[in-house]
Amino acid sequence: MAVPMLDLKAQYAKIKDEVDAAVAEIFNAQQFRGGPVVEGFEAAMAAYLGADHGIAMASGTDALLIMLRAVGVQPGDEVITTPFTFFATAGAIVNVGAVPVFVDIEPDTFNLDTGLVERAITGKTRAILPVHVFGQCVDMDPILEVGRKHGVVVVEDAAQAVGAKYKGRSACTLGMAGALSFYPTKNLGAAGEGGMIITNDAQLAQTARVLRCHGSVTQYHHDEVGVNSHLHALQAAVLRVKLPYLDGWNARRGEVRTYYDEQLGGLPGVVLPTVADFGDPVWHQYVIRLPRRDEALTLLQSRGIGCGVFYPKPLHRQKCFAHLDCRHAACPEADRACGEVLALPVYPELTTAQQDEVIAAIRDHIRACA
Ligand SMILES: *Cc1c(COP(=O)(O)O)cnc(C)c1O
Repeated sequence: MAVPMLDLKAQYAKIKDEVDAAVAEIFNAQQFRGGPVVEGFEAAMAAYLGADHGIAMASGTDALLIMLRAVGVQPGDEVITTPFTFFATAGAIVNVGAVPVFVDIEPDTFNLDTGLVERAITGKTRAILPVHVFGQCVDMDPILEVGRKHGVVVVEDAAQAVGAKYKGRSACTLGMAGALSFYPTKNLGAAGEGGMIITNDAQLAQTARVLRCHGSVTQYHHDEVGVNSHLHALQAAVLRVKLPYLDGWNARRGEVRTYYDEQLGGLPGVVLPTVADFGDPVWHQYVIRLPRRDEALTLLQSRGIGCGVFYPKPLHRQKCFAHLDCRHAACPEADRACGEVLALPVYPELTTAQQDEVIAAIRDHIRACA
């Protein structure tokens, strides 16, 4: 039995009628840009997270970029972040003209090591951009404290953590603003690309709205140069259908995680994902560490089991960042994680029979390692 890494066809089969009707409505209305469906989804998303404002964009990458600009990150500023994330996090920092400063991760949660953040602050630090990697929140309180102490804004990359909680509050509402992605493989995925900035700050929301529309407050009048980045109405329609299902889907991901934990726990050399006690993750990925990772990857692939390495190369080792000042670029935990991690299939539609195949393959690999 093939076990795909993600099965969006199975998801679509369950909501096809609703999705198709919502898409047809957009075609009937012929309003593809802005309008009540986009605005309705912005409001629904903000309400779901318990925030005041949602500003939709064409992608999570654009949401990060516009968010950084909207909070005042300027060319030459430094932004502290993690090297163990999808490239977009650091790419957005560079594309606003700022410099990413990489701080190492905690080996157990793979998230930014909060104890290392303060020593990375310099006179040029303008923002801290933690990433809630694999759907688990970073320990935000110590980071917010460092931010307050040094007058540095804290903004979140919540692309992998829609619906995750930190001490009862939603990821993406913990700092001054947060960025979401609706890339198809995310926990809440569009039928294409999409992203959103979430904030409680009305001024910041307004700035972001202006920046996403070529910097114009009044049409054809531009006080600054922005970009053109909008969530397509078709995407908003699909996302609005999916949002009410999100909590159920995330809960089902949690059950998949529990079963993996039960079945893989105690295998020699296998390190299961750690959950910090302050959080409630949404299992965007289920990532284990294991010996001879590349051999495990090959074995699973040979059996038609989808799996992935997130991430094979930390950002501080990317060629495009080779020129960076390496004061803070020593990230041994991120280096080590890149050699040991393996992401197993985790999604709501995954069956127990499929999970058993994954588990059997991991057990066979560990036996071969002995
Ligand atoms: C997916 C992702 C992004 C970028 O989102 P896009 O919608 O693909 O542009 C940014 N950061 C992280 C951590 C992501 O996983």
